[in-house]
Amino acid sequence: MRRATLMVRLALLNCLRTRWTAYFIAITTIVHPAQAQQTKPAEPKVASANQAVQSQLPFSDRQDFDDAMRGFIATTPDPANPDHWEFLKHEAPPTVNPSLWRQAQLNVASGLFKVAEGVYQIRGFSPANMTIIEGTTGIIVIDTLSTPQAAREALDLYFAHRPRKPVVAAIYSHSHGDHYGGVSGVVSQADAAAGKTIVIAPIGFMEALVGEAAVGENAKARRAEYQFGLSLPVGERGNIDGGIGKGDSRGASGGGPIITPNDTIWQPTETRTIDGVDFIFQLALDSEAPSEMMIYLPKSHVLDVAEDATHTLHNLLPLRGAGVRDGNRWSQYLNTALDQFGADVQVMIAQHTWPVWGNERVRTHLANQRDLYKYIHDQTIRMMNQGLGPTEIAEALTMPPGLENDWSAHGYYGTISHNSKAVYQRYIGWYDGNPATLNRLPRVEEAKKNLEYMGGAAAVIARAREDFKAGQYRWVAQIMDQVVFADPSNKEARSLAADAFEQLGYLAESSTWRNAYLLGAQELRSGVHSGTRSVPGVGPGVLRAMPIALVFDYLGTRVDGPRAGTANIVINWQFTDTRESLASTLEHGALTSINGKTAPNAVTTVTTTRPVLESVILGQRTLAHAMERREITTVGDAKAVSDLFALLVDFEEGFPIVESGRKLD
Ligand SMILES: [Zn+2]
Repeated sequence: MRRATLMVRLALLNCLRTRWTAYFIAITTIVHPAQAQQTKPAEPKVASANQAVQSQLPFSDRQDFDDAMRGFIATTPDPANPDHWEFLKHEAPPTVNPSLWRQAQLNVASGLFKVAEGVYQIRGFSPANMTIIEGTTGIIVIDTLSTPQAAREALDLYFAHRPRKPVVAAIYSHSHGDHYGGVSGVVSQADAAAGKTIVIAPIGFMEALVGEAAVGENAKARRAEYQFGLSLPVGERGNIDGGIGKGDSRGASGGGPIITPNDTIWQPTETRTIDGVDFIFQLALDSEAPSEMMIYLPKSHVLDVAEDATHTLHNLLPLRGAGVRDGNRWSQYLNTALDQFGADVQVMIAQHTWPVWGNERVRTHLANQRDLYKYIHDQTIRMMNQGLGPTEIAEALTMPPGLENDWSAHGYYGTISHNSKAVYQRYIGWYDGNPATLNRLPRVEEAKKNLEYMGGAAAVIARAREDFKAGQYRWVAQIMDQVVFADPSNKEARSLAADAFEQLGYLAESSTWRNAYLLGAQELRSGVHSGTRSVPGVGPGVLRAMPIALVFDYLGTRVDGPRAGTANIVINWQFTDTRESLASTLEHGALTSINGKTAPNAVTTVTTTRPVLESVILGQRTLAHAMERREITTVGDAKAVSDLFALLVDFEEGFPIVESGRKLD
């Protein structure tokens, strides 16, 4: 890739990381020429294992390829990415699992598609889809892609082929950023606030949105780089797909505000007539997102399953990290949809991947997806009750009987393995019940003791080389991790660890596993490329959407507890613009607050506005500057405010993952 393009992409990545959660705006295409040369070919054992997949799965079944292009009208090339995915036209190379290669080919389809009379989708402009329903006087948009620019480009494509009509309503299918991030490219904030444009969301939408993004944002953004392979080169030895779509989003620069819904779906099933079109909404809370819903259009017989029945096994716990999702309820929602709409439905669409046409095929798809999540859930619990631990369950659990040949049941995004661990975690947590694992030594200490017992790094590496030759990549990755953690400067260990990760990436059917392994290999070979700035760990859009109590909860996660020591700082806060007030207490290193109250023992009362506080939190200006300009005023001990802010830490965005971040002695 040309250097100028590379620099633009790096700048985009940096800018995106500070906005919302990075996972949904995954940009993939940062190519490091030096790194690209370091990749290695598939080992003969890997090449033959991948070759064997060709005869194990029904590749002659081309229905999905027909469906992915059915109703295609036109597309517009992405100027930043011409011919980006051309290499996928070839046969699967030895460095890619052919099943994943097939999914990557299917996810290349991009453009405007007619699904049914009055129902269109724009796919491939962003990881998610935009669905457009034509009303009497305007259009209704379901989901708005990751960025305003992507959303506008999608609408422009639609209007180039259909009558230009106003957007009368926007519907958020769920609370993930690839579904709402571009809303300001579709709807004006003023029109939404005035109720001129309807903005509908499932109950709990804003709470879920800020709740998922307010805690652990920096850790999730960093882990999302592994899930989506953000800084891998695109190509046969790098990033080929995101599982539920390409990681690229068009128009990645320029974020917009999050527009608050002005209409909420809160009953299990609710109906609306919008611009002459009937909608039936079915809530699916705590399925793929905490706040999610499916949508049925009775007139056109189209069922939109949001992200609950796409053409892949999804995640009960994505690799980036999240609260564990409820596989049992997820399955029940699909069963309810099948029960409510199964007799009438003719087309199923989703907010990722492509549609399914025909009543019988839709019913089969829904039933298979229903059983997939239920099987993983129930069989994990069965084995848990039979005394197996998470790694044993993950090893024993296979595809549900009879679903092996259903492509959509395969794990291109989630996997049966890590989903079963998620079920275990949801019900009984991280501890496997064995006291030997109750209080393990931290990783560096454990690694050093292991090496000491095994006769040192050189002896371990020598044996691991033999195992690498024998194709035992999982074990080599595991044992080399010990050597690298014991001594990150051991080049041989890093190199062998990287080689093992790489072969595991080439074998993986899941895009998220492939990306994780290949980025692990890249970072072992050439370090972290994604940036090393200090960041506040929350983006402006989410911060703006947080109620003040949540802002202080978030600030509490930035307090350096040990350094706070015995400090005791009580402050009353008043926000003149939002009329919010709050009393905060820092004591014992813990920042707590009471909303809407003033504390009689406060040492100072602070008066300011939300934008001023937010700009200080985001590091866009200093507290001292805001106080000098009297945009933050105090009555009482002004120093208490600066004392509190001095105890807050920033986070390092490119923290180490495949080696210890601790300074060695
Ligand atoms: Zn999504």
